[in-house]
Amino acid sequence: MVEAEPILMSAPASREMTPRPAERPAAALEIDGVSHAYGQVVAVDRVGLGIADREIVCLVGPSGCGKSTLLRLAAGLEDVQVGEIRIRGATVARPGRAVPPERRGVGLVFQDYALFPHLSVLENVAFGLSDLSVERRRARAAETLEQVGMRDSAASYPHMLSGGQQQRVALARALAPRPGVLLLDEPFSGLDTVLRNQVRDETLHVLKQAGTATLIVTHDPEEAMFLADRIALMRDGRIVQMGEPVDLYCRPMSPFVARFFGEVNRIAGRVDRAQVRTPVGTLDAADFADGTPVEVLIRPEALSLSLGPVGDTARGRVGAARLLGRTSLIHLEVPDGRGGSLHVHARMPGPFLPPEDTTVSIRLDGNQAFVFAADDVI
Ligand code: ADP
Repeated sequence: MVEAEPILMSAPASREMTPRPAERPAAALEIDGVSHAYGQVVAVDRVGLGIADREIVCLVGPSGCGKSTLLRLAAGLEDVQVGEIRIRGATVARPGRAVPPERRGVGLVFQDYALFPHLSVLENVAFGLSDLSVERRRARAAETLEQVGMRDSAASYPHMLSGGQQQRVALARALAPRPGVLLLDEPFSGLDTVLRNQVRDETLHVLKQAGTATLIVTHDPEEAMFLADRIALMRDGRIVQMGEPVDLYCRPMSPFVARFFGEVNRIAGRVDRAQVRTPVGTLDAADFADGTPVEVLIRPEALSLSLGPVGDTARGRVGAARLLGRTSLIHLEVPDGRGGSLHVHARMPGPFLPPEDTTVSIRLDGNQAFVFAADDVI
């Protein structure tokens, strides 16, 4: 339990906001060309991002890439140095002008929840509803607790709750004022793995039912894919690709994006008549000139194995096969065509556990393999 004062976002769009021209459709949250530096460190670099009504967007990326700074800029906890932020069409931040956090109509949930230890669950949720009468505050708080499945704990105190329950109360407190936008910063990282999966599943249901536009910061690609309607992947302060999870996973625009969402086999090659030949199969490379050196990134699940020879497909020798639960990971040695061998990983659904030294046939699914110019690869 953290004793720090939570920031309670109670007010909807306020009189301090500047209305935008009527002809521009207002997204729930618009971040427009925003930059922010801490001294010499550029944390956020010319970022543009819009979130529509009812949409859940996950901001994902490695540690230090600027995710939290961007969320804090949207919340009003950092000042915008370049660019503009609008919430429901009203400008809330631009250089030299910032609507204070409590007047932006945003709900915030942080990793530590920051519930008031001396207030009951109901009082915690009612706290930010200062615009309502006492009776309506209690009714709204009870209704929001019902929404997150915590009504029975209304009279409990935070220390009496599990981590998962505290997270749900924090979510209820953020939702109760019916904010225009919800901002969640690593909301599940304080929970152990099993609880985390359960709580994020419940959270997704609550968010979908509430229909509030939501921005969630996470460093975990799987969590982003689980929660997001759209994902924005950040690197070094910039958004490198934004789209639906399937876009980022199946149509990565750079090697960084491909690698961020899961393990890949990396194979160097050269384009020859619009194709790249690799030891595990041939891929189209029509976008590249003949002779271009390329790096091919192949997801392990793109390599489909069968026992015994199948047509003229590539063959490999099994070094080890391990059941990981829903899938099996098979380590293969594949002849590289130059007298040596290439080590690759294949992933098959369910138990697929050929003994060591078995020869398997390999079929390459081109939809899960990506060709990039070699100088794109870092
Ligand atoms: P993320 O949330 O992706 O881990 P952050 O937004 O926290 O990234 O940080 C982005 C960069 O800004 C990092 O280099 C970090 O060290 C730096 N940074 C973040 N907060 C501060 C701060 N208060 N003072 C100085 N540098 C900071």
